Amino acid sequence: MATINEHYLKLKAGYLFPEISRRVHTFLETHADAPLIRLGIGDVTEPLPAACRQAMVAAIEDMSDRDRFKGYGPEQGYSWLREKIAAHDYQSRGCDIDASEIFISDGSKCDTGNILDIFGNENTIAVTDPVYPVYVDTNVMAGHTGPANDLGEYAGLVYLPITANNQFQATLPTQNVDLIYLCFPNNPTGAVATREYLQAWVTYALAHQSIIFFDAAYEAFITDPAIPHSIYEIPGARDCAIEFRSFSKNAGFTGTRCAFTVAPKSLMGMTPTPGHEAVSLWHLWQRRQSTKFNGVSYIVQRGAEAVYTPEGQAQVQGLIRFYLENARLIREELTQAGFAVYGGVNAPYVWLKTPEGLSSWDFFDELLQTCHVVGTPGSGFGAAGEGYFRISAFNSRENVTEAMQRITQCFAS
Ligand SMILES: *Cc1c(COP(=O)(O)O)cnc(C)c1O
Repeated sequence: MATINEHYLKLKAGYLFPEISRRVHTFLETHADAPLIRLGIGDVTEPLPAACRQAMVAAIEDMSDRDRFKGYGPEQGYSWLREKIAAHDYQSRGCDIDASEIFISDGSKCDTGNILDIFGNENTIAVTDPVYPVYVDTNVMAGHTGPANDLGEYAGLVYLPITANNQFQATLPTQNVDLIYLCFPNNPTGAVATREYLQAWVTYALAHQSIIFFDAAYEAFITDPAIPHSIYEIPGARDCAIEFRSFSKNAGFTGTRCAFTVAPKSLMGMTPTPGHEAVSLWHLWQRRQSTKFNGVSYIVQRGAEAVYTPEGQAQVQGLIRFYLENARLIREELTQAGFAVYGGVNAPYVWLKTPEGLSSWDFFDELLQTCHVVGTPGSGFGAAGEGYFRISAFNSRENVTEAMQRITQCFAS
């Protein structure tokens, strides 16, 4: 008799996006011609940078030649890509990160989930509320939680609320937590973290021997020079943080797939048994990846490498400017229409407060029915997201302008 991983049965069956589809579908049954604009999904819309496409075409040509053909690559990724990442993304910002500490992968979603493989089951885990659902669901699957309550909160997790009341900066826990998920610039709220705020977390983590999982998928959207791009800009972070980065949101690789994880060699975890011996997390991650992962395709790694050429940099900057201009328009128009809006300055997401008396899902229905615009209800990202709503800047200028016109017309009083 084959038994299953029972923890999967605790999952709130991928509630958010299927529920959005269901409501949109129901609406379209009676309004087949409604010109819907979708500002809900966190996927890019603009084509891949030319530099990346050209590099991938050349890499395909390499595959046609017996001498240049590539079979299995190094599990950790090609060193020419890791060296460019280390130099450009870290050393140029004063971060002490070496190419050997970078692990190329096929996505940060996968890495933020897979990282749990190398940690024990007795850790206390802290997540913000609202939060990127992958952090929570992967802990549920690993058996790190009890069942969920009606609000979708899982027993055993420590939820740190982020709302307008604390400027979307979680208050540091008063209790001991071992693993901490931080995401800046934040999905879904669009908030960023100052150097002082990150320093407070690093100080906490060092004092409690905790590990911070720092998801920097949106770092390219930071335009304010005072905001750190990496947790390793903070002294001490090499001893308490793993960083996740992706080419998905800066270079439009959501469908092409390339990302990386940084595990400093100085990072240690403890054996759970009394006596607590320190073990290198770099070593465990290296062992995990070389056993369960066979690397990202040569072609895609060449495409990612092209991000670091002068042309690639200019093209990525163009994409970022484009989405940030969308975000600016969204902020400006929604403010005009009387909404309280947050984020959308150093991030591609605008987070708005729903009008008095409307829940996140009420507002979703109203926006769908009166404006034919689809967004994402804040409550889908966690209980403390109730009363908020996410609008994504990933869309064409035309769609953004049109959607904002409709919203201003419907809601401006
Ligand atoms: C989009 C996104 C990622 C990137 O995921 P990939 O698997 O690399 O495409 C990571 N974290 C957050 C919070 C995201 O929104």
